[in-house]
Amino acid sequence: MEHYEIRHQVLTAIKEAVELGLIHGTSGNIAVRDPETGMIAITPSGISYSTMTEEDIAIVSPEGKWLDGKFKPSSETPMHTAVLQARPEINATVHTHGMFCTIMAMTDEPMRPITPPQAEFTPVQVVPFTMPGTNDLAGAVVETLGSKGRSVLLKNHGMFTCGKNIKAAMAAAVYTEEMAQTTYYAKLLGCYQPMSREGEAAMQALIAKDQAV
Ligand SMILES: [Zn+2]
Repeated sequence: MEHYEIRHQVLTAIKEAVELGLIHGTSGNIAVRDPETGMIAITPSGISYSTMTEEDIAIVSPEGKWLDGKFKPSSETPMHTAVLQARPEINATVHTHGMFCTIMAMTDEPMRPITPPQAEFTPVQVVPFTMPGTNDLAGAVVETLGSKGRSVLLKNHGMFTCGKNIKAAMAAAVYTEEMAQTTYYAKLLGCYQPMSREGEAAMQALIAKDQAV
């Protein structure tokens, strides 16, 4: 099978996302790019993740053209390929409809870190509502992420994260949902206190140094 490695990475990640409760049913999608060939493996549209195999994962060109796989690629392919094209250092992207991210997106406020590991992904900006599956949404996600962003909330929809590899993109998704959940409960309890700006900046400097090694 061609492009087995990136297909396997997408399959493993989508099953992990289901287990973690980040993805329910057939919602959400994941893409991984092969840095050597530029080809992208992406979850297919509307197929149950529990019985999915590597063969079912679609392969698309850097521009999003469907090249291989039994089922057609996710309808959100433009969002994934646009971010991968705009950010050469990024090789994996994750989109989910996580409940707490969806709630926090309605506040229109960028999310701040509550715990140190979350600072790797902040600030998490909100993308205004745009119709799913469109180039307009893809463009809005690219613009809101900017040159360094790892995670954004999609208003009335969910969230989108990215990373240099699938492990990094999944970590962004896990911590963004955790940030949304802790922020939600803290605000409900009236005790919301995100990390200080100084603490956030110090943590980001530490993470950047660690990743440069
Ligand atoms: Zn979606």
